[in-house]
Amino acid sequence: MRLRDKVAIVTGGARGMGSAESIIFANEGAKVVIADIRREMGENVAHKITQNGGIAEFISLDVTSEEQWKSLLVRTISLYGKLDILVNNAGITGHDSVISTSEKQWDQIMDVNAKGVFFGCKHSIPYMIKNGKGSIINISSEMGLVGSAMGSPAYSASKGAVTIFTKSAALRHAKDNIRLNSVHPGPIDTPMLKESSPGKSNKSKTVLDLTPMGRRGTPNEVAFGVLFLASDEASYITGASLVIDGGYLAQ
Ligand code: NAD
Repeated sequence: MRLRDKVAIVTGGARGMGSAESIIFANEGAKVVIADIRREMGENVAHKITQNGGIAEFISLDVTSEEQWKSLLVRTISLYGKLDILVNNAGITGHDSVISTSEKQWDQIMDVNAKGVFFGCKHSIPYMIKNGKGSIINISSEMGLVGSAMGSPAYSASKGAVTIFTKSAALRHAKDNIRLNSVHPGPIDTPMLKESSPGKSNKSKTVLDLTPMGRRGTPNEVAFGVLFLASDEASYITGASLVIDGGYLAQ
C-alpha cells in the first residue's frame, strides 16, 4: 500500500475530485480526514470508506475560516496523532467577465481558492515540521498556468495565486522535508463542471473542444496524480506543477 499508516486531510472531500482522492488514499492505507462544508455528502464518503475496511472521519470545515482550520488540525492530531499529507482541493468557480465580476464575487473566489490554501498550509506546516516530513498538494487548474478568454478572470487569478504560492512555500520549507506541489486539472467530470455548464454559455464545451484528447477527464485520473505526489515515491519532487489536462497545455 502506497500510503500505509499516513494521515491525510483532503479539503473539499465531500464530492468531485476530493471524494475520489479520499477514497483512493484510504484504499492505499491512509487515515483520511474529509474536510468540507457539505456535511451529509462528506459523512457519506467517510461511511463508504469505513464500510470498505478503511479509516476515515468527516470534519466540518469552511476553508475561509482560520479558526476552523485551527480546530480541524487539533482534532486531526487528537484522532490520529500526526499529519503527513494535506490536499488543498476545495474550490469554487466563477462565470463572469472582468466587467461583470462584482467585488463580492472576486473576494469570495479569492477567499475560498487562494486564502483557503494559505490557511491550510499555515496551520498544517507546523505539525509537519514536528513530524519531520510532509507532502502538501494544492489543486490549481490549467487556468492557473495560462490566460484564457473562456473562463472567469477571478477564478484564473485565484488559481494563478495557488501556483506561485505553492512554489514559494516549497522553497521556504524544502529544508524541513516538506514538499509542496500543485496539480493543474483540465476539464474534469465533476459536479462543479456540470453546474457551471448548463444554460450559461458553451464555455466548458469550448475548453473541451480545444482539449486534444477530446474528452473530459475523470476524478480518478486526477486523484492518481495526487496520490503519486502524496506518496514517498515522489520524495524528490517539490515546487513542481503537475498538469493533468488531456494535452490542453501542450498546444
Ligand atoms: P466540486 O464542486 O465538485 O467539489 C468541490 C468541493 O469543495 C465540494 O465538496 C464543496 O463543498 C467544497 N467546498 C467549496 N467551498 C468550500 C469551503 N469554503 N470550505 C470547504 N469546502 C468547500 O469541484 P471539483 O470539480 O471536484 O473541484 C475540485 C478542485 O479542482 C477545485 O479546487 C477546482 O477549482 C479544481 N478544478 C476543477 C476542474 C474541473 O473541471 N472540475 C478543473 C480544474 C481545477
